[in-house]
Parts: sequence; structure tokens; C-alpha cells
Amino acid sequence: MIIMKEIQTAAYLFACILFILSLSGLSSQETAKRGVLYGILGMTIAVIATLFGETIEGHSYIIISLVIASVIGLVVARKVEMTAMPQLVAILHSFVGLAAVLVGFGSYLDSTTQALTGVEHGIHLVEVFIGVFIGAITLTGSVIAWGKLDGKLPSKPWNFHGLQWMNFGLFCLCIGLGIVFFSEQNNSIGMIYLISMSAIACIIGISLVMAIGGGDMPVVVSMLNSYSGWAASAAGFMLSNDLLIVTGALVGSSGAILSLHMCKAMNRSFFSVIFASGKSSLPQIGEKKVLEGEITSLGHEEVAELLNVSKSIVIVPGYGMATAKAQYLIYELVQTLQKQGKNVRFAIHPVAGRLPGHMNVLLAEANVPYDIVLEMDEINDDMVETDVVLVIGANDVVNPSAIDDPSSSIYGMPVIEVWKAGKVIIMKRGMNAGYSGEENPLFYKDNAEMLYGDAKSSVEKLMNYLK
Ligand code: NDP
Repeated sequence: MIIMKEIQTAAYLFACILFILSLSGLSSQETAKRGVLYGILGMTIAVIATLFGETIEGHSYIIISLVIASVIGLVVARKVEMTAMPQLVAILHSFVGLAAVLVGFGSYLDSTTQALTGVEHGIHLVEVFIGVFIGAITLTGSVIAWGKLDGKLPSKPWNFHGLQWMNFGLFCLCIGLGIVFFSEQNNSIGMIYLISMSAIACIIGISLVMAIGGGDMPVVVSMLNSYSGWAASAAGFMLSNDLLIVTGALVGSSGAILSLHMCKAMNRSFFSVIFASGKSSLPQIGEKKVLEGEITSLGHEEVAELLNVSKSIVIVPGYGMATAKAQYLIYELVQTLQKQGKNVRFAIHPVAGRLPGHMNVLLAEANVPYDIVLEMDEINDDMVETDVVLVIGANDVVNPSAIDDPSSSIYGMPVIEVWKAGKVIIMKRGMNAGYSGEENPLFYKDNAEMLYGDAKSSVEKLMNYLK
């Protein structure tokens, strides 16, 4: 079955509309499921329309690859733990980068494109060069992000004097290679330039992401998402596929907007993070503060009693809630407290967890109603009127150093000001630092008490005492 050009164009247009509807659906939790369905439908139409388009040959190979890839995708998606989702997303971005690089090489070697002359030939070379450049950066940058998120590489920023100059030098080298590549008539020599540029772009990808660390990683994840979109768009130009151009641009621009939002949430300058200055926009000043005071802790029964006498309770979930898979039990705890007439709400920090929107996804998974899930900005002012805050597996997002310690690497990032509440209970297993590696003076505050233990088993014990 061959689909005619006109039908294919109409199918592409329809798929584009579905992708846009999908993005708008994903903008709110209530409509997110519908957004995902639009996306699946759009992608199915896009694949069918492309597969049976007039210019496509070798259907058997494509279908075999599709089946194998779909099986791998299904197995991985079913097996992956929610806590490993950020790593999965990062590694999937690297596939898009690799695809763009391979499409670029394939397109450069293709006999039909080699026959192009004049302006068309020049435009094609630009498409190939830019596509391979973005693709190579996305490829290695995403692999490094995967390593950092998976704990295989240190989360601390890798930095040395002259790193930015090195990156700038490598970038200039790529531009130089581009100039000789465009003027080269001999394809074999052109190929050497293209391979050299790919190798340099791979190094740029590694050094850009290695230099970003600690609290700034959320921007890297969304930035690589954006890069993968632009890489796909570049591949669309090379393959003359309008749908890929539009889809790539949608992913690229939405990823860029998300990166800007993440930077705003962290009070970071977009460019200082992107160009991996190794520092945030707010420089670290002075000696590290010596933490004074004493860390005190309570038992589960005492915390349950405290909850019993409290009227207003705020829960701040973090990465520890995800690793403990405590969201279902936490919602049971919330329902128990609500039945006792208490006002219980969640406070979500934009970079809590390891993925943009990580906490919102987990709470939605546990069917927590959206009206009790508030963003940091919506709830920070209410902290003074809150009796108890339960910090469950969160650390960096409630760290007061972000506000009052210029020597801290997270200084300047807005945080949930839990210490303003009557009492703060911090539920974690021990004294490990958060992702940024910074110590947390919250634990030393007079109104703060630790409740040691795995988040899930702690909530279970609290439930038993409350019942
Ligand atoms: P943090 O990483 O700051 O802290 C998590 C805390 O959870 C740890 O201190 C750990 O302490 C505790 N914990 C771990 N497992 C358990 C468990 N089973 N039960 C109870 N506690 C547990 O998390 P936050 O959510 O507060 O902050 C997120 C951090 O990650 C920020 O620095 C953010 O910039 C960064 N990041 C965010 C990304 C995003 O897109 N959202 C992406 C990449 C990084 P202990 O071991 O002592 O129990």
C-alpha cells in the first residue's frame, strides 16, 4: 500500500495538530492523560504515513526494526522503576542525538543529495553540518547526564581554570571546520571534516554537562530535551520531512521554555548554566558556615501525637519519597488526617526529585487530588500559620542556606521555607546530604526534629499510631 503525497501531507498536518493538542494537554495535571493520548495517536498516524509514503523503500527492514524497537521499548518502560525515570529520559535523548548524527552522515553520502548543485547543495551542507553538530553534543551530553543521574558519575561539577576558554576554542574549531567543509568539493575530504567536527562536538557535549552539577542538573535535563528536539528538527531538514521539522521544533522550543522556567525556579541565569561556567549566576562568597546547635530527633509515636494535636499540616515530598515509593501510603496518611478534620496540603518545589514535575507525577499516580497539591510560591506565605511540616525525603529544596549562606552552591535558589512553621519533622534515613552535596542547617534549628527511617516504613508506623 502506497500513500499518495496529498494524503501523506494531510496526515502529517493532522499529526501536527495532535502534537500541539498533546502539549497543551500536558500543561495541566487534569488534562495530562488526554495529552498523552493525543501524542500517541499523533505519533501512530505519523509513523504509518511515513512508512507507506511514496519515497520509502525497504519496508521489510523498517517493519522488522520497528517491531524489535517496540518490544525493547515496551519491556524497558514496564520494567523501569519510577526512580530511574530521569536516567531513562536522559539516555533516550542520547538516541535522538545519535539518530541525528547518523542521518547527517547518511544524507551526506546519499547519491541523490550528492547530485545537488548551487544554492540547494549549499543549503544541504549547512543542514548536514548543523544537524550532526547538535546531534553529537546531544549524544554525549545525554550520556553524561545519564551517568550523573544514575550515580555512575559524581554529581559535583567538574571544573578547571580555562574550561570555558577550552569550550570556546573547540566551538571556534568547529566553525573553522564548517567553513572548509562548505567549500570542499571532494566528498571523501569533506567526510574527514565532518568526522573531525563530530568528534569535537562530542567533547563539547561531555565538557558542557560534566561542568554542571549539584542543584543545577534540572536545567541540564530540560536543556538536553530541547537539544534533542532541535537535533530531530535538523534531521527533518536533511530528510525533507516536514513533520519531523515541526515535531522537532515543538520539542526544541518547549524544552527551551522549560529550561527557562527551571532557571527561574532556581534563580539562576540561563546562560551561566548553559555555558557551564561551573558557577551559578550568584557567586559563592566567603568561608563555609560552621553549623551550630544540636540535631534532635523524635520517635514515631511522638510524631503521631504531634500530628494528632495539629490543625494545619503541610507535607514537603522530595527525592526520598520517590526512592521509598511512599506516595500511596502518604496519601492514606493524608486521608486519615483529613477525616480528623485537619487541613493537610502538599508543598511542591519545582526541582524536587530528579525530573521536572517528578513529585506531581508521583502524587498523581497515588490519586492525590490536585487541589491539595500546591506549588512553592502558593504555599510559602502560609508557613507561619502551619502547625507541622512533614519533610518526607526532601533535603535541598528545604535548605535555608539557599537564602542565607552566600558560600553555599545553592545560594539564591528559592526554597520552601519550612522553618517558619511551628514544628518541622524531617523524615530521612540518616544524615546524608541531598543531590547538591550541601549540608542542611535546617536540621539544627530549634523547631526541627528528625524522624529517622525509610520514608515508607516511617509513614506506615505513623499510620499505626494514628489509628
Ligand atoms: P535531595 O536529593 O536534596 O535529598 C533527598 C534526601 O532523601 C536525601 O538527603 C536522603 O537522605 C533522603 N532519602 C533517600 N532515600 C530515602 C528513603 N528511602 N527514605 C527517606 N529518605 C530518603 O532531594 P530534593 O527532592 O530535596 O531535591 C532535589 C535535588 O535534586 C535538587 O538539588 C535538584 O536540583 C536536584 N535535581 C533535580 C532534578 C529535577 O529535574 N527535579 C534533576 C537532577 C537533579 P538519607 O540518605 O539520609 O535518607
